[in-house]
Amino acid sequence: MASLEDLIPTVNKLQDVTYDAGIDALDLPVLAVIGSQSSGKSSILETLVGKDFLPRGTGIVTRRPLVLQLNNISADSPLIYDYNEPSSGSQGLGEIENANEAGYGEAREPTLEDHLKRNSKMYKGGNVKNQWGEFLHAPGRRFYDFDDIRREIENETARIAGKNKGISRIPINLKIYSPHVLSLTLIDLPGITKVPIGEQPADIEKQIRNLILEYVAKPNCIILAVSPANVDLVNSESLKLAREVDTHGRRTIGVVTKLDLMDSGTNALDILAGKVYPLKMGFVGVVNRSQQDIQDQKTVEDALVHEEEFFNKHPAYRSIASRCGTRFLAKKLNQVLLNHIREKLPDTKARLNTLIGQAEQELASYGGFNNSTKENRAGLILQLMNKFATNFVSSIEGTSSDINTKELCGGARIYYIYNNIFGNSLKSINPTSTLTVTDIRTAIRNSTGPRPSLFVPELAFDLLVKPQIKLLLDPSQRCVELVYEELMKICHNCGTPALARYPRLQSKLIEVVSDLLRERLGPTRSYVESLIDIHRAFINTNHPNFLSATEAMASIVEGRKQKIQNAKKAEELKKKRQEELDRAAGMNENNSSISPRIDSDSTVTTSDSENEDEKDPKQSKDSFLNYFFGKDQQQTKGEQLPSLNGKKSTPNVEHMFQHNPDFLAIETLQIQEETESIEDEHPELTEREELECELIRRLIVSYFGIVREMIQDQIPKAVMCLLVNFCKEEVQNRLVSKLYKESLFDDLLMEDHTVAQDRAKCLKLLETYKQASVIIGDIL
Ligand code: GDP
Ligand code: MG
Repeated sequence: MASLEDLIPTVNKLQDVTYDAGIDALDLPVLAVIGSQSSGKSSILETLVGKDFLPRGTGIVTRRPLVLQLNNISADSPLIYDYNEPSSGSQGLGEIENANEAGYGEAREPTLEDHLKRNSKMYKGGNVKNQWGEFLHAPGRRFYDFDDIRREIENETARIAGKNKGISRIPINLKIYSPHVLSLTLIDLPGITKVPIGEQPADIEKQIRNLILEYVAKPNCIILAVSPANVDLVNSESLKLAREVDTHGRRTIGVVTKLDLMDSGTNALDILAGKVYPLKMGFVGVVNRSQQDIQDQKTVEDALVHEEEFFNKHPAYRSIASRCGTRFLAKKLNQVLLNHIREKLPDTKARLNTLIGQAEQELASYGGFNNSTKENRAGLILQLMNKFATNFVSSIEGTSSDINTKELCGGARIYYIYNNIFGNSLKSINPTSTLTVTDIRTAIRNSTGPRPSLFVPELAFDLLVKPQIKLLLDPSQRCVELVYEELMKICHNCGTPALARYPRLQSKLIEVVSDLLRERLGPTRSYVESLIDIHRAFINTNHPNFLSATEAMASIVEGRKQKIQNAKKAEELKKKRQEELDRAAGMNENNSSISPRIDSDSTVTTSDSENEDEKDPKQSKDSFLNYFFGKDQQQTKGEQLPSLNGKKSTPNVEHMFQHNPDFLAIETLQIQEETESIEDEHPELTEREELECELIRRLIVSYFGIVREMIQDQIPKAVMCLLVNFCKEEVQNRLVSKLYKESLFDDLLMEDHTVAQDRAKCLKLLETYKQASVIIGDIL
């Protein structure tokens, strides 16, 4: 491969690919022409491109940099057709008419007929519309007529740089689209001048030099240093400037123009042979169109023929004619580009391999590209399904790879439900809060029948405690529900990115697991209910932790004794203070209002005291105790006194006493009212009834505590067994049996629209990469 023409399709393909991928892997050099004014820079560029479109002429013509981006398009590129001609603008009228004739000027879908018409016109009539220019400053407007392009450059130059010889550093950006160009960037630059003319500032030379340097300093810029042959090379401004940025002359090509204008008898052979000035890439002599040629509208083709003739016939250049002329310059540039590409290709190839790898990975994440066969679809469904099930299980077990750090979830949340939510709600149940003293008394009366019982009314306790156990049902069911809700949440979060592409499959998976969970909710709830029923079915008063009636009674009695003592002490203290006060003031009116506060001086250790006691004569109490337990009651007071009730209420009250004795009178009363509401309600209880009620209450509290502990232990176990673990173990089977059916595959694998598009795009990209890789392999 050696010629530019051969390289064009290959390189353009490569460039297309790399541009598509958002990279410029080839990083082709930029070509800039530099030289003094009117040395023929624009002429050279034009001949290289093969089109007349640059303003040329004597004097300063190029006054703004022109960044000329050549874009190769294939002859049948959709770009050519996907365009509705704007009706305004300075395009050649004939061309617009042609377009309309072919049906392309209107904003409607071109029909097949249009295409055929258009194609036949293009190829027959030679009026090819597959080459055009577009300016950055006039986006969306196509210039099919290259004369228009030239006019636009002139206008745009004047717009920014003024009409009178002014110069501007702001470039004009022009893109040329054509099937006949190499995708390259060429830069036409203002010529180097020494003397300011017209509007030019005094430092015009410096300004232009800086402007030129800005472009040619870049290492990937190939400098075409133009020197006219009719001026001594020693004075060549372009070579001087090129040397500043390319000291070793590695990326500078010397171009000697106007060989036709040399004084007769002189020639540039020495220069062209590289004997005068050293440049690695050497010198090329050219003959561009003269001003006369331009006026005569000589075409590029004719000019090239004329140039060739010139060298072939010239006595001095005849021997080196094959290394002269614009065609040779193009070949040379071609070689430079080829070398550059060769240098770049290994990198590009490596890069492409990486890109291929990435694209393949991306494609795989879209579920691969082959879902067409039954086996593939089945495999994919199974794979997605398994992943879903695994995610479900691992979220519950807490082994999930992406662990949420923001909130409790999955298994951890389930344990939190058991330990905190459920545990606390059980703890907060007051087993006697719903029992009034009347309830208890009625129960006692009913259970004893016509005769009063002699001993603790066990039947009444049984009767009363059973409904209380039912208080445990609601929190237990709530616990089941919370765990169920958490499992639902887990199931909704089990998707993977791969699964997201198949919204139907995803929703089906969620549906099946939700059904499974819902199915298990019933049995779990009813098991929990029967668990509570079981505890209500038999009241095991032999339970080792159950408070014995004797213990309970002893504790009550001890409490009462303390109470009486305290009351007595308080009474005495009250009296003493009263006396003091009486003595001090000598009058009696305001005594009563102070007295309750004085009580607080007394030390109290238990709160089981009953308020009524204060009203009762202590005499009768002693006699009642004697009657119930016999004279030796004091011996029965046990060390194991703290009852469940004691655990609940005493510490609070005690605590308060310790910290603020003033609370005693009022606060103690309030707390007792709350926790021991039974006692305050019925003032007309007999002593015995009162005692019995308290006894029953304590037994209920004790027994309830035992059941509560068991329930707190059993419910989580039941929920784990019947709901959580069951679903964990069943989920995989259930999914397979419900969804792994060939008749469902098509529906389940219906893809999300955008995903299908993304994958198609990725697939296409991958193909192009591979294609590019093959192309590179061919060149290397
Ligand atoms: P630039 O200012 O460097 O861009 O030079 P242009 O390309 O505008 O050319 C300046 C003038 O020199 C134009 O009139 C061209 O026709 C003329 N010219 C350029 N190259 C040659 C050449 O090789 N031979 C002849 N006879 N005239 C040339
Ligand atoms: Mg010019």
